[in-house]
Amino acid sequence: MGTLDASRSGITGFIEKGSAMSHATNQPCIISVAITGSVPRKKDNPAVPISIPEQVESTHEAYEAGATLVHLHVRDEEERSSSDRSSFATLQEGIRKHCPDIIIQFSTGGRGRSFEQRGAMLDLRPDMASLATGSVNFPTTVYENPPDFVRTLAQTMLDHDVKPEIEIFDLAMLYSTVDLVQQGLLKEPVHVQFVMGVKNALPARREILEFEVAQLQRLLPSATWTAAGIGRHQLEVNYWTLEMGGHCRTGLEDNVRWDKDTLAKSNAQLVERVAKLCGEYGRPVATAKQARELLALKPAA
Ligand code: ZN
Repeated sequence: MGTLDASRSGITGFIEKGSAMSHATNQPCIISVAITGSVPRKKDNPAVPISIPEQVESTHEAYEAGATLVHLHVRDEEERSSSDRSSFATLQEGIRKHCPDIIIQFSTGGRGRSFEQRGAMLDLRPDMASLATGSVNFPTTVYENPPDFVRTLAQTMLDHDVKPEIEIFDLAMLYSTVDLVQQGLLKEPVHVQFVMGVKNALPARREILEFEVAQLQRLLPSATWTAAGIGRHQLEVNYWTLEMGGHCRTGLEDNVRWDKDTLAKSNAQLVERVAKLCGEYGRPVATAKQARELLALKPAA
């Protein structure tokens, strides 16, 4: 750890002894890759995979580089965010063929999709799907997740045996998650992702992450967690997460750049960097089998 600079390793006072840091040992780290998203276009970075063959290939390369969970959106021919069920089906089939044990996670995110469309592909039974447990402002829009809709989506995931990844864009969503567990709409152990650095939502500040993790561990002790930093915060959040014992997310959905001056070459390039960092922090990169065990998912078919 001697090579780490102060900004990466400075611990503030939020983490109590026996909570987050006691887990920050050598637990394998699950690397998630968010390959496409709903925002970046080819004009932002030509490496963003848009067509289904591009998405399958990009996932395969990222898997070879160490990613064991892939977070998926689909697009239409004009690169717009889509909800097309048959695209999700074809994509899932292609990925299963080339990366049989990778954990497949569909996005139920909002941009350009109606409430009804957002859960309409869950009967395809991906391993996981994203579930935001509240509403929040995004840079120019409201990310709308009214209570009834959240409950319906959670119930649909239960019905199809799809494990949610809870997306925490704002602090209240953490406490709504606890309510959903108490109402029987979420099964434990839950898996939570803290999203940091979306303009108008939670900023990427380490103290916030430490507070969120400490609250999660107090309220839902069996939960697993990861964090995603958006844009220029991506790598910084990876450092914090590795050090605090969480899992990591990277990929072109959240950040199309390699550094300030260069575009990332591929999703795999971003995954390779995180895999290398895991070594630096004494965290083995989780295999797909380990990732499934850590998240209490069924073994690959
Ligand atoms: Zn997404």
